[in-house]
Amino acid sequence: MDYAENILGTIGKTPMVKMNKLTKDIDALVLAKYETFNPGNSVKDRMAVKMIEEAEADGRLKPGGTIIEGTSGNTGMGLALAAIVKGYKMVCVLSDKQSKEKMDILRAVGSEVVVCPTDVPPEDPRSYYSTSRRLSEETPNSWYVNQYDNLANTRAHYETTGPEIWEQTDGKVTHFVVGVGTGGTISGVGKYLKEKNPDVKIWGVDTYGSVFKKYHETGEFDEKEIYPYVTEGIGEDILPKNVDFSIIDGFTKVTDKDAAVYTRRLAREEGFFLGNSAGAAIKGLLQLKEHFTKDDVVVILFHDHGSRYVGKIYNDEWMKKMDYID
Ligand code: PMP
Repeated sequence: MDYAENILGTIGKTPMVKMNKLTKDIDALVLAKYETFNPGNSVKDRMAVKMIEEAEADGRLKPGGTIIEGTSGNTGMGLALAAIVKGYKMVCVLSDKQSKEKMDILRAVGSEVVVCPTDVPPEDPRSYYSTSRRLSEETPNSWYVNQYDNLANTRAHYETTGPEIWEQTDGKVTHFVVGVGTGGTISGVGKYLKEKNPDVKIWGVDTYGSVFKKYHETGEFDEKEIYPYVTEGIGEDILPKNVDFSIIDGFTKVTDKDAAVYTRRLAREEGFFLGNSAGAAIKGLLQLKEHFTKDDVVVILFHDHGSRYVGKIYNDEWMKKMDYID
């Protein structure tokens, strides 16, 4: 018999899929690491379980405890699945720009959802960073996960996602392109691939309204770079400890409109029904096209599933209202 002990046993070992149409002007082989095959439909299942296991091991998370996290939804989903299997309570703190689908999905898997305003600075007591911290101080036997600074996030990708990409490409991967939010994916995968082959180039995809690209290029944390944006999952107005700038070769920025339009093109031209950050990632890869030659193997990672965006990116009325389509 071939079965997993519980749902957590199905995390990882996701497929790699060749891209054919959207990348036709690129000579290199472009392969998508397709993370929606995880049980929570995103890459974040990997780090959610790893963060919980490390917290259990060193006693930060105790039996019957409450897990609290500020999350754009995907980490919350991974944590909620693990909480169910392992017997914890789950509280997710979200900003109000997150899609309603994400909130409904979290409630569906038993999580309590607390919604905070997006357009306040991180230090504001109403922000989702501050609210998560406060709730964890007020709730007995609770543990605040903090995916931004919890380095188990990077370790999960160093131990699983990175080795899978290396093995699935027979060690031929030359470039890795990925959207950056907490930085766990790019830092863990990037560190692993560079240890295997220091010539592998690691590219981050950032969004307008986020500090990463400018900080990487100048070392300056420029507050003028920060303003509200629509793309979910990537970009930050803080510098999370999980972003290891030293292993990143460069960033490219993608507009909200391009991210939305390319997310729809992924669905219609490749049959890839994915979330908003996937459109940003593929548009970022296309912007980097002069860096790739015909012998290169370029891996792009797609973080989450399209079902969470049916009311927005996949909704024509919303796209028109945003002036993203005519
Ligand atoms: N895309 C989506 C949809 C996400 O939820 C996340 C996680 N914030 C990312 C991209 C970025 O991944 P990471 O946090 O590992 O940088």
